[in-house]
Amino acid sequence: MNSAEREAWYRYQHEKYGIPVEHLRREFEEELSGKNPMDAPLEIPDKMEVVFKYSYGGQSRFFRELRENKTLYGAECPECGKVFCPPRSNCHTCYQPTQWKKLAGTGTIEACTVQHYTTSSFIKKVPFVCAYVKLDGTDSLLMTNMEVDDVAGVKVGTKVKAVYRELRLGAITDVYFKPLD
Ligand SMILES: [Zn+2]
Repeated sequence: MNSAEREAWYRYQHEKYGIPVEHLRREFEEELSGKNPMDAPLEIPDKMEVVFKYSYGGQSRFFRELRENKTLYGAECPECGKVFCPPRSNCHTCYQPTQWKKLAGTGTIEACTVQHYTTSSFIKKVPFVCAYVKLDGTDSLLMTNMEVDDVAGVKVGTKVKAVYRELRLGAITDVYFKPLD
């Protein structure tokens, strides 16, 4: 394809899927320039949508507390005292059924990375920070997204707090984190 044809292709795919042209160019320029062998596997943009009811099972209360009360809960093992968030129905060490424990919603970043490339759900938010947060009072890590103006300011050891969205859907994305002031 010549460059005018390629630009028309990018415009069409951008309008159809909402993928930024710069991403399309990065992913498909080589292919559209005719550099790939004719017999090499050909990849094109596509979209798959499946709508269904998803059950949270034993984690249901965690999501209801998030949606109804803007509160994070962990699951505490009555035997070893470990607290898990994300919650689990049974302790992975003792196999005991866990009990719900209200958390303060603050924590510390244990690991983080800046995302410049992502799936279509988050593509409009790049660059953003994906972090493993150890919530205060827990013994596990919660993977979450940070929403900050300056992604370079987020580091391991940064203290963070939960922020709850105004419209909460009963999903983990009802909460995000930002640095504690
Ligand atoms: Zn245990």
